Amino acid sequence: MISGDFNMKKIGILGSTGSIGTQTLDIVRNNEDLKVVALAAGSSVARMESQIREFAPSIAVMWSEEAAKELSARVADTGTRVLCGMEGLLEIAVMEEMEVLVTAIVGMIGIRPTIAAIEAGKTIALANKETLVTAGHIIMPLAAEKKVPILPVDSEHSAIFQSMHGENRERVSKILLTASGGPFRGRKREELTEITVEDALKHPNWSMGRKITVDSSTLVNKGLEVIEAKWLFGVEPDKIQVVVHPQSIIHSMVEYVDGGIMAQLGMPDMKLPIQYALFYPDRRPMEGKRVDFFELGSITFEKPDMDTFRGLQMAYDAIAVGGSMPTVYNAANEKAVALFLDRKIKFLDIYDIIQGAMENHKVIANPSVEEILQAEAATYEYISGRRF
Ligand code: NDP
Repeated sequence: MISGDFNMKKIGILGSTGSIGTQTLDIVRNNEDLKVVALAAGSSVARMESQIREFAPSIAVMWSEEAAKELSARVADTGTRVLCGMEGLLEIAVMEEMEVLVTAIVGMIGIRPTIAAIEAGKTIALANKETLVTAGHIIMPLAAEKKVPILPVDSEHSAIFQSMHGENRERVSKILLTASGGPFRGRKREELTEITVEDALKHPNWSMGRKITVDSSTLVNKGLEVIEAKWLFGVEPDKIQVVVHPQSIIHSMVEYVDGGIMAQLGMPDMKLPIQYALFYPDRRPMEGKRVDFFELGSITFEKPDMDTFRGLQMAYDAIAVGGSMPTVYNAANEKAVALFLDRKIKFLDIYDIIQGAMENHKVIANPSVEEILQAEAATYEYISGRRF
């Protein structure tokens, strides 16, 4: 039988119902040569059902068993096999027909499937930054050994990647990681005491999932990105400089040893970096608003205020210690943000919780996946034991 799938690029998406996942599916809708073979989500059954009916993947995974059962009953008339939990995610990771795995899940749950996919030789389009922050020392050498490309989806890292295209990476002198500064840019600590969940969820430029939007307001997201950049590009943190650029038009820059700086610019829209990762090194046409420099008039730059937005400094501290410390930084932040979104703690408590967890942690120098997950669990336990 001659299959029409011959020229199709087959992709799997972990986190298909989320912000990055749904934008990835928009790109699939606009590119006939992309075929979705697997989807995974946490508990959004109705959204997953409609995705299955539209994209007909071979496998769909729900994290919870209950959600998987419900989904199974709803899509019994389709050809999609429904699985659940980590077993399901790992089955997607090694699917023979899949070429590219888009990791757009939130949290450290992404580590194991990413490792399994690299071992199976799959290209990784990586959005799930927590994977690199906590296990970069395992993922990057493994990807090099297996000759598997790790293509960044995060807009700043995609910009850095694009700015390094065709260049000699040994000639990089500095990475200039841009940051919008978030909704509270310019405010001082005493002006942040009464910040509400609604305030923190109003990002000035980007539309993203709830957790990462709060992370942008604390600058923890930028901290996670510094650590992610260290692993993706093999550049030490003292050569990664965060530059606040409120208009979010320059998505990041790379300075070379001759003083030349390459930058990638564009409208703040995640579809471009997602599509770039899916078709790299090709550039496909994409509809959408273009940067109009006359309308823009000017763009500005500032130093980040790391005394007020302590989340960024703590990331530099965590990576300087290394080992399991970035895991604790990330896990403590995850828990603190969840508590903040549940209105159990105040905005500034997020920093105190991260700092407390880092001070309490006994570092493991070169943690295995097991030890990373143990450090995560111990951090959660430590925070649960505190009173708020
Ligand atoms: P969202 O919260 O919007 O979406 C998360 C997705 O992960 C959902 O599909 C969710 O399913 C799924 N999910 C959550 N837990 C599990 C689980 N245990 N098993 C399987 N699936 C699960 O997040 P974002 O799309 O904003 O972010 C995803 C990742 O990409 C994060 O690591 C983030 O840091 C990174 N990122 C995001 C950017 C953005 O613009 N949003 C930019 C750069 C990076 P369900 O709907 O069922 O809960």
